[in-house]
Amino acid sequence: MAHKVTLVPGDGIGPEVTQQVVRILEATGVKFEWERYAAGAEAFEIYGEYIPTALYESIERNKVALKGPVTTPVGGGFKSINVTLRKKFDLFANFRPIKNLPGLATHWPGVDLIIVRENTEGEYVGLEHEVVPGVVESIKVITEKGSTRIAKFAFDYARKHGRKKIHSIHKANIMKMSDGLFLRCARQVSEKFPEIFYGEHIIDNTCMQLVMNPYQYDTLLLENLYGDIVSDLCAGLVGGLGLVPGANLGHECAIFEAVHGSAPDIAGKDIANPTALLQSAVLMLLHLDETAAAGKVQAAIEKVYSERKTLTRDVGGSAGTTQFADAILAAIG
Ligand code: ATP
Repeated sequence: MAHKVTLVPGDGIGPEVTQQVVRILEATGVKFEWERYAAGAEAFEIYGEYIPTALYESIERNKVALKGPVTTPVGGGFKSINVTLRKKFDLFANFRPIKNLPGLATHWPGVDLIIVRENTEGEYVGLEHEVVPGVVESIKVITEKGSTRIAKFAFDYARKHGRKKIHSIHKANIMKMSDGLFLRCARQVSEKFPEIFYGEHIIDNTCMQLVMNPYQYDTLLLENLYGDIVSDLCAGLVGGLGLVPGANLGHECAIFEAVHGSAPDIAGKDIANPTALLQSAVLMLLHLDETAAAGKVQAAIEKVYSERKTLTRDVGGSAGTTQFADAILAAIG
């Protein structure tokens, strides 16, 4: 039976990388029925809505989506499509594994980190207003429920996958109440997982520690904004945004998308690296219990990277997006 999956190609480099990832997924032998939808500025032109109702309904029905990046206008314009979808489907856990690929020389080889980012609260609730001209307030919301469930997600994952350490990353010395609550909830959850080391580090120090010695960490548990920033930093540790996958997980639905944005600077040139979305698709295959296909795609990625012959520019090669995907298809056989 075919898996029905909602597909949002997105904009910028989104359509190019999505097209190649779909080609690769279809070569695994797994059957898919894609329901394609535009989102963001493109959707507004077609449907008069930034997120078409039909897209919401499709995700609600299928429970699984693969999504390319959608540009969010800076400093004005419409609300982030990513944030809106995460809130709408209560995709509270943003899961981002950070691992080196073979054949890519980086400052720190063998990095193996898991980032668990709270995905629905914090500064991303979008509660901002102008009090008087020249004074703006932005509200950060942290709840006991939201903090406890993301901590529980991180500890459950760690237990299931034999991870040894979890650090909560915070700024509770300044944001005493909000980050203080986040920490209290994580501490409480940690008590039920005595086999897992639990630590707490301040966000600014963590950024320095990560670039000086990433091996000291295993799983990082972060609020929304800290998780967003630290994810990009960690992507840099293993070769950049072109590589790092992500999953937005809730109790009902899951949306798989790369950590990177729409990269307008390289859009439409067939030079973007599709690896990040492809590795997100591997997470999706695992979610769909297509373990063999996930293994096949991951092995092909590792083969192509080890050979170093057909890599994209962001990782030191000269291949285009399509050429890289061709090499992956050849490796799948
Ligand atoms: P957002 O805030 O929307 O998540 P961002 O700040 O993470 O976006 P990106 O759009 O991801 O920014 O781009 C950051 C830089 O990384 C750009 O120079 C872009 O070209 C590069 N980049 C991002 N994704 C890729 C990719 N898949 N392949 C190659 N380069 C990429």
